Amino acid sequence: MAKRDYYEVLGVSRNASEAEIKKAYRKLAMKYHPDRNPDQDSAAKFQEISEAYEVLTDEQKRAAYDQFGHAGVEGQAAGGGAGFGGFGGFGGFEDIFGDIFGGGGGGRSRQSRAQRGADLRYNLDLTLEEAVHGTNKNIRIPTLVSCKTCGGSGAKKGSKPQTCKQCDGHGQIRLQQGFFTVQQTCPVCHGEGSIITDPCSDCHGQGRTQEYKTLSVKIPAGVDTGDRIRLAGEGEAGTQGGPAGDLYVQVNVKEHAIFTREANDLHCEVPISFVMAALGGEVEVPTLDGRVKIKIPAETQSGKLFRLRGKGVKSVRGGHAGDLLCQIMVETPVNLTAKQKDLLQQFEKELASDNIDHGPKTSSWFDSVKRFFTQASS
Ligand SMILES: [Zn+2]
Ligand SMILES: [Zn+2]
Repeated sequence: MAKRDYYEVLGVSRNASEAEIKKAYRKLAMKYHPDRNPDQDSAAKFQEISEAYEVLTDEQKRAAYDQFGHAGVEGQAAGGGAGFGGFGGFGGFEDIFGDIFGGGGGGRSRQSRAQRGADLRYNLDLTLEEAVHGTNKNIRIPTLVSCKTCGGSGAKKGSKPQTCKQCDGHGQIRLQQGFFTVQQTCPVCHGEGSIITDPCSDCHGQGRTQEYKTLSVKIPAGVDTGDRIRLAGEGEAGTQGGPAGDLYVQVNVKEHAIFTREANDLHCEVPISFVMAALGGEVEVPTLDGRVKIKIPAETQSGKLFRLRGKGVKSVRGGHAGDLLCQIMVETPVNLTAKQKDLLQQFEKELASDNIDHGPKTSSWFDSVKRFFTQASS
């Protein structure tokens, strides 16, 4: 789709002043702002207007546009499908409109003093066993609670917040700036519409005080690192009687000496001697609910995985339990005595004497190496 001329979009002449461009933009933006016009057409229109405005109010971009047209500013404009979220980048909108569109739709009414408290996050370390089986944990958290002395109003007992005289309780004042009437947050009451003349001495007018509280948190079985448990209403108290925020307990599972968890599977390494690897045998492996024996067949190689079905973790989100994956690691013997070394040398000689391939992997590896050198030299 060919782009329309930016001047045409804003309906201004080629030598329009910045003030004229701002004025035109303001008029059009009021008309097509998505808060006021939810349909698709006006959203696209608003993008177009915003893009034109961005380019024409930037001295360099405007010069480039005047000389080269759209090609001169290609890839520089914020418009073109960036979405409204990307709009804050150049600040023009807020600069001009202040709070007019705040709150979606009509002019913003004054901010209410009653505000919801902040959500809090608590990082909780758990052992793997606790995370898999579930547990109860007591946590102690600092929190802002509603001041008991003033009941959260921030005003001294017997006194009341007074309506702000500057803004008449609206929290906003209007200022004349050239052609524009700009609405601004009232500097006297900071937008709250009222002033505490006689603050509560316990909370210094904040309406909230800090306290520690101990909470018992039930950790459901199967949680993993990154899961969070929401405790509704256990966050910070709201101001002026507003609702409390929530507390999020963020789970972190500590490293385990034996197991690592991957989704619902558990992994562990099982070292065995090379004798057992060669002859086979039985080895006891740990699981989170006790020990089990696994059979090691003769001629087991290092790295072999044994899967114990259902011995992993059952996720907190339900479904089947995962598996336990035991990886065999054949261990090279250390601290050998002279006699043991001698026996191994005899054993090695014995292996070489019968013309049978006792090390298929080693043989095929040496074959490959041989081929590699033959090819390299030919
Ligand atoms: Zn108080
Ligand atoms: Zn005020």
